[in-house]
Amino acid sequence: MSVDPQTLDYLYSILQAVNAKADWKAALDTLLASLRDEFVYDNVAVYIRDSGTGLDIIYARAVGRGKNAEADVNWGEGVAGEVIAKREMILREPVHNPRTDRLDLPYLIGLPLFTAGRLTGALVFVRFGGPGYSTIHVRMAELIAMTVGSLLASKALQEARTDLESVQKQMRLQDDFVSTISHELRTPLGFIKGYSTSLLREDTKWDEKTQREFLAIIDDEADRLTHLIENMLESARLQTKTLQFKFQPLRLDALIRDVATRIHTHHPELQVNFDSENVPPILGDGVRISQVFENLFSNAMKYAPESPIRITIRRSVKTLRVTFADRGPGIPEDYLPFIFERFYRVPGQGTVTGTGLGLYICRQIILAHHGKIWAESILDEGTTFFIELPIEPDM
Ligand code: ATP
Ligand code: MG
Repeated sequence: MSVDPQTLDYLYSILQAVNAKADWKAALDTLLASLRDEFVYDNVAVYIRDSGTGLDIIYARAVGRGKNAEADVNWGEGVAGEVIAKREMILREPVHNPRTDRLDLPYLIGLPLFTAGRLTGALVFVRFGGPGYSTIHVRMAELIAMTVGSLLASKALQEARTDLESVQKQMRLQDDFVSTISHELRTPLGFIKGYSTSLLREDTKWDEKTQREFLAIIDDEADRLTHLIENMLESARLQTKTLQFKFQPLRLDALIRDVATRIHTHHPELQVNFDSENVPPILGDGVRISQVFENLFSNAMKYAPESPIRITIRRSVKTLRVTFADRGPGIPEDYLPFIFERFYRVPGQGTVTGTGLGLYICRQIILAHHGKIWAESILDEGTTFFIELPIEPDM
């Protein structure tokens, strides 16, 4: 049999267009669109076997008359299931009846999809009201099914590559994390070791005042180490999602007032101005949400000392919005985008210590509540943190 050059050109141009597409869905769109004139159908759908016994629909298109394949894909599911069970093509034509509505006369063709020799799913076409599928049409449908099979193989490959990239990224983050931690742990440990070694030296006598100074440094650095380790464990648990949240109805206004009162007992000089609308409860973990505000208070006292703090709560249709504002020195615009990142501290902080984990922890907690947190800042005027929490989260 000799190949008709026209047919060859036709197939060549189609396959070329399909191959040029980077994404499997776009490739399938192209394939189906280029065969539209030769192979007529109303709806098409691709089903693949899910991990259980069911079928997932991964592609659906309605070109034809009346029905919307994306919205209603039930028409093909039965045939797809049979194709997969029998591992072969199925043609299903209704008994023709001119009085029946065209949409009630589906002419179906279902074909098995093989990806690298393995049965992975089924491709189903429907023509409402016919015509039936000729031998040529059946062959074309088989050709399409074969192409879809290889497109699915490249889809699997694409997905595997994306997974691999995300694992690689995760590993890089781990590496960064470990090197940052080692550095952060070494600094306070270095102080503790240095000053205790000095105190223990037999050849030097320190006067009482110096001894107390050294001990105070050791004490401070030990506190810093504890704070660092607690924060690190917390952030690691938040990142790996092993921290359990206990969601209950919460009154955000009462919670913030409690945190403010607690802080006030240790820092009676701190001025807090609190203004809340009458707000409905939210679903949240009280301990964790309190932790967020404790961090904001701690930051305000560290980075905006002596500034009063103003807190407001407002409700909108679906969310509560809290603003937490100080009138401190503010955060330069260039640094603002990074303050919620792990270990990030704005440079030039002087003697103010911190681990750079506080705001990271806040953000993870708020995200776990399906909320948002961000900051705005004006130099020499102050910084405002915004927190938005859903009134009825879909958890
Ligand atoms: P930690 O809270 O873990 O002890 P930290 O306070 O340095 O350490 P974050 O709370 O994450 O870390 O804050 C990150 C950085 O953002 C801080 O180092 C500081 O530079 C800046 N920052 C945070 N809050 C304010 C604020 N209210 N005003 C000015 N700068 C702030
Ligand atoms: Mg902090």
